[in-house]
Amino acid sequence: MKVGVIGAGIIGCAIAWELRKRGAEVTVFEKLGDAGHGSTSASCGIIRRCYSQTSMIKLSNEASEIWAEWENWLGPIEGSLARFERPGMLLIPSNVDEGFLQVIEEMKNSRVKAEFLDKNAINEKFPFLNTDAFFPPKPVDDDSFFNETGVLQGGVWEQDAGYVVSPGLANTNLKLAAQRDGVEFLFNTEVCKIEHDGGAPYSIVTNDGQTHQFDVMVNAAGPWSSKINQLAGVELPLENRALRREVHAVKNPVFGQHDMPVVGDLDSGTYFRPETGGIDIIIGSTDPECDEKEWVENPDEVDIGLTETYWERQVLRTMRRIPKLQMGKARGLAHMYDVTLADWYPTVDRTDIDGWYVALGTSGSSFKTAPMIGVMMAEIVYACENGHDHDNDPVILDLPRIGLSLDTSFLSRLRSANATTGTVFG
Ligand SMILES: Cc1cc2nc3c(=O)[nH]c(=O)nc-3n(C[C@H](O)[C@H](O)[C@H](O)COP(=O)(O)OP(=O)(O)OC[C@H]3O[C@@H](n4cnc5c(N)ncnc54)[C@H](O)[C@@H]3O)c2cc1C
Repeated sequence: MKVGVIGAGIIGCAIAWELRKRGAEVTVFEKLGDAGHGSTSASCGIIRRCYSQTSMIKLSNEASEIWAEWENWLGPIEGSLARFERPGMLLIPSNVDEGFLQVIEEMKNSRVKAEFLDKNAINEKFPFLNTDAFFPPKPVDDDSFFNETGVLQGGVWEQDAGYVVSPGLANTNLKLAAQRDGVEFLFNTEVCKIEHDGGAPYSIVTNDGQTHQFDVMVNAAGPWSSKINQLAGVELPLENRALRREVHAVKNPVFGQHDMPVVGDLDSGTYFRPETGGIDIIIGSTDPECDEKEWVENPDEVDIGLTETYWERQVLRTMRRIPKLQMGKARGLAHMYDVTLADWYPTVDRTDIDGWYVALGTSGSSFKTAPMIGVMMAEIVYACENGHDHDNDPVILDLPRIGLSLDTSFLSRLRSANATTGTVFG
């Protein structure tokens, strides 16, 4: 089977390698100069298992085990390896209700080391965190911005969650493993035209004027994926769109005094984690409703400069949780999520056009699951290409590291929206 993969981000590289392991002849097209120079380069690399849906908890827990054994997973490659730092993660929901407590139970059932911490336990474990509540998040110019609205009811503590340093290096590691095993990468090679007759075979025309033929194509073009589907004349029931994001770095005010965990704070509207060995923290947004979303019409024209608006908003919101934080100078980066509007979960599936597959709409949170999205996509491709009716009899994935299995239909293009937070927290 000859497979073309569009995009050498973390998702495209993981898929290409898994397909190759199963015997496919794989070529990856990447319009940039190397792997991992797209949105993966901007990722915060946070690895957690707290998600609204049990299926996503399981998928991310299995993937987390892969990050923990990254060297074994890859096999021998040149150069240094990405590291999985595990300071733990505290996730503070907007509300501790039955649903949230049920999520913690589902995490435990999915073999995640998770426990509920009430306000006092949070105070004791992290004395530098303010445990006032501020929900709902407000614009920074709101007169009541710094006024608390109550006290936190608590959060979930995942003791071995963390982050990968660096996502770009992890992407390079995957590329090298895939290259070693025979995947062909064509860099500086943009897919410009896609010709087919309602299904395979596909003729892919690239910017250098070459035409390449494939039996199977996988669209893993991240924020560019809907553009690629348009080129191929492929329509999906669930819409995905590029969304501009910024991540900022500030000095960690408790560096050297306390260990900083990863914190996801839906109460105040930000998430943060240690960076540069803990000297800094980096801050992202949980996309609260009060912030207008910056949808990107053309991902090739997105402005990746920092803006005062995002900087102020994200740092001031975090300052309410870490009162010792100082604004400092604006530092950070901007890039794009590829958001599935319906539920902020990716779509990993076949399409209505035979031989055209998609792994897209990763919604700002699929770095962590990338190794498993690779496995899932490869299993789906092989099942469908061997005549299996994945739409009506979904592929069931083995999760050997956590001893469970997974019905992959929750990432089907045909799904009803998963019940999620409708944010990057999924
Ligand atoms: C700011 C930010 C923070 C994030 N933080 C986290 C986090 O903490 N934890 C987490 O799990 N996830 C996080 N994510 C999400 C995660 O990083 C993404 O889900 C993941 O990196 C997407 O990988 P990808 O391979 O799909 O996309 P990309 O890395 O964007 O790769 C797609 C590639 O396709 C190429 N391409 C596009 N069009 C063409 C074409 N026509 N021809 C050839 N090549 C083409 C692009 O150049 C690009 O390299 C974050 C994302 C962002 C932006």
